[in-house]
Amino acid sequence: MVFKMVSQKLDTNTVLNNKEIVIPKIITPKLEIKDVGKIFKTKSGETVALEKTSFTVKDGEFVTILGPSGCGKSTILRIVAGLEESNSGKVLLDGQEINGPGPDRGMVFQSYTLFPWLNVKDNITFGLKLKGVNQKERDDLARHYLQLIGLEGFEKHYPIQLSGGMKQRVAIARALANDPKILLMDEPFGALDAQTRTIMQEVLLKAWEDSKKTILFITHDVDESIFLADSVYVMTARPGRLKKKIPITLDRPREYSMKSTVEFGNYKEELLSLIREESLKSIK
Ligand code: ADP
Repeated sequence: MVFKMVSQKLDTNTVLNNKEIVIPKIITPKLEIKDVGKIFKTKSGETVALEKTSFTVKDGEFVTILGPSGCGKSTILRIVAGLEESNSGKVLLDGQEINGPGPDRGMVFQSYTLFPWLNVKDNITFGLKLKGVNQKERDDLARHYLQLIGLEGFEKHYPIQLSGGMKQRVAIARALANDPKILLMDEPFGALDAQTRTIMQEVLLKAWEDSKKTILFITHDVDESIFLADSVYVMTARPGRLKKKIPITLDRPREYSMKSTVEFGNYKEELLSLIREESLKSIK
């Protein structure tokens, strides 16, 4: 009897293949959240922000976390970013436990975080310069990302000269240019008007398809959670925990027009009903 390791990605266990036993290679998830819980202690008492929560994100997967306001979405993301300590459990990135912030995790927040004294190109390449990447490589990468986010011709502009949507494009380009293992996004389009928000979702999907990065994206917008994701993780009202995982099997690449299809509508109906249940609990 022959034992053989297979190298392709498989999620299944041992497979019997006639006379061979094929032992699939164990695939480590890109991100693993294991029993992570968070209690905030304040002068007025304790807030259980997160009950023990566990989930995984596969390499290259686009996961959106959807939940009512105050359910602990940002807390999860901040724990993964290493900006907040959990009270229980652990977070593994490529199998390594996270202890504090690091350049292996790129962040894009709702508030604009560009350096106001640097122009667009220098904002995008700031981290690369710190890492000692040479000028030629920095220029090539800046050109690539400027083209990807549709801001060619704006490299010399300063953040003050840009609209909110443009600033967030630069923030995405800057995060990707640093080649992180995962991109963590906390309501990055929350402050934008509806029209710009839709365009930004398309820009982000294009950048994701180009970079093949793993993305964990927080939102309370149901349409956004469906349009972007491979999987939507729905959270309960506070104290938050994972309520349901909904895989989204809409074709890729995705276009705005998909939002009016029956398939999209079915996902929306299911998610709206799950979120409504939780939102009602949170106002009782
Ligand atoms: P969401 O992102 O889902 O809106 P958050 O993760 O920001 O929710 O917050 C979850 C809960 O934890 C809320 O009740 C919030 O008030 C509380 N919380 C968040 N950060 C802190 C903090 N630094 N100190 C005390 N309570 C906090």
